[in-house]
Amino acid sequence: MAGVTWHYVLKFIITGDAAVGKSSLLVRLTDQRFLANPDPTLGVEFGSKLITIPEEEKVVKLQCWDTAGTESFRSITRSYYRGAAGCLLVYDVCSRQSFSNARTWLKDVRQHADPHLTCILVGNKTDLCSDDAGPAKRNREVKTEEAELWAKQEGLLFVETSARSGENVELAFEQATRDILLKIRNGV
Ligand code: GDP
Repeated sequence: MAGVTWHYVLKFIITGDAAVGKSSLLVRLTDQRFLANPDPTLGVEFGSKLITIPEEEKVVKLQCWDTAGTESFRSITRSYYRGAAGCLLVYDVCSRQSFSNARTWLKDVRQHADPHLTCILVGNKTDLCSDDAGPAKRNREVKTEEAELWAKQEGLLFVETSARSGENVELAFEQATRDILLKIRNGV
């Protein structure tokens, strides 16, 4: 891979209800940090990151777009989806409402995005329902098995993450990237 900056540039979009942690996942991926009190009016809109998929011997540049506060208007335009190869569909494992709404988000994605888009369902904030969450601890409202089953039925990849601890955040993007590279290799 000597001399290669990257082999592919892939556009990713991050959708889901407000406050599920979309900006935080993006900041964690690109900047390896977590903001406990981000300014909700200043959603992070864009971040880019190089990742390596060793078994494919490929370096991929991810260009990730967050909905940055427009989710409450449900008015995400076609241009947002245009050219996207991957999508993170995010919910909060402590919010059943955000999981139910993921169905609506998926509908929107299917309506606007390329039919071959790789979509990964991401259950975020797992740290909040762990025993070391201390006074912040919240009840888990969406079981892993339930989300996994729904993802399977819908043909989505699935992972649970914590933007706070960083757990599985890179993995979420890596899994989706692997799937996209496979599609590229198979000429999809
Ligand atoms: P967005 O509206 O979907 O972009 O959500 P934000 O990234 O702005 O996050 C909303 C709130 O949830 C903020 O207070 C974040 O600090 C918090 N948050 C995001 N991800 C996590 C996480 O994995 N764990 C915990 N404990 N809090 C999180």
